[in-house]
Amino acid sequence: MTISISAAFDSGAIRLVGVEGDIVSLEIPTDHLSDFYQWFHFRVAGARGRTLTFRIVNCAGSAYPMGWPGYRTRVSTDRESWGTAPDTAYADGVLTWTHAFETDLAWFAYFQPYTMDRHDALVTKATLAEGVSHRQLGETLDGRAIDCLTLGTGAKQVWLYARQHPGEPMAEWWMEGAIELLTDSANATARALRDKATFHLVPNMNPDGSFRGHLRTNAAGVNLNREWHAPTREKSPEVLCVLGAMDATGVDFAMDVHGDEAIPANFIAGFEGIPSWTDAQGAKFTEFGRRLAAHTPDFQTEKGYAKSAPGTANLSMSTNQVAERFGAVAMTLEMPFKDHDANPDPAHGWDGARSKALAVACLETLAGMIDEI
Ligand code: ZN
Repeated sequence: MTISISAAFDSGAIRLVGVEGDIVSLEIPTDHLSDFYQWFHFRVAGARGRTLTFRIVNCAGSAYPMGWPGYRTRVSTDRESWGTAPDTAYADGVLTWTHAFETDLAWFAYFQPYTMDRHDALVTKATLAEGVSHRQLGETLDGRAIDCLTLGTGAKQVWLYARQHPGEPMAEWWMEGAIELLTDSANATARALRDKATFHLVPNMNPDGSFRGHLRTNAAGVNLNREWHAPTREKSPEVLCVLGAMDATGVDFAMDVHGDEAIPANFIAGFEGIPSWTDAQGAKFTEFGRRLAAHTPDFQTEKGYAKSAPGTANLSMSTNQVAERFGAVAMTLEMPFKDHDANPDPAHGWDGARSKALAVACLETLAGMIDEI
């Protein structure tokens, strides 16, 4: 039987270089109109009974080459449960792993995928929950909806938004966890949060890139998290419509949810270096991180990004812009493609279920601080 490799589906990305015997050579394609690449997602048919070696040969030129050492490819035979390929290895710019096919089909990805089909199901189900209202904030360049769910009656304005970078699906798994908690009418934490705050939830800021199987950009090849100082209808309508909705409500607390390729840990990044920085605003960010780390073994505050020097914050990035523009306690949450090494799960790596659980821990931490925000 002939081996067939396909990525022509929602969130798929791979290019076949060639098959020689049991060795399959592959390349990751760039985002459309962009040089970025790192996200891959493909299926293999016609290999039942064989053991194949996969080689992604262009890893050295990917957006984050430091993402490959210590990384393990994700594998599924049912598209529900995803595990790691234990023999994944990286050397000389080539990522390799093997798979012994016991089934007709197997699926491989950089991380447990979150498809646009699943996004549509998530948003539609949430609209049926009591007290939830849905707005389509705008349209993307490919004509897809920017969905926003609003719930709660409190004065504090909380914005949670994810997946500016579409190849970071852990961000939307996190949103699924947040939405399930906040719409659980029997949950005391959710009830307290809905009483004190109004939540605005944008589960996917980059549906075009998500569907196209991009790593980092939208349909125009634009990195949305470099557009917040001056979004435009032509290049970044996704940011334009979300920032416009934020201007209408104001923002007290904001979380922009992402994945990080290189660092094997969950962490938050703040807004050091914004022109209007105050120690009081910064202290609330620091305190949130401290409490979250005390609350769950899946969070820590030692590993993370370097802080910007005073006055040097990049205001084209969402967290800095939202902190500066609204005086909000704003943060970027980064989850790993590798694992949270302080509490590892070698069989799965960091995954969707753990991203969802981290969202619950974040909201429980927020509930304990909401009066101080
Ligand atoms: Zn990101």
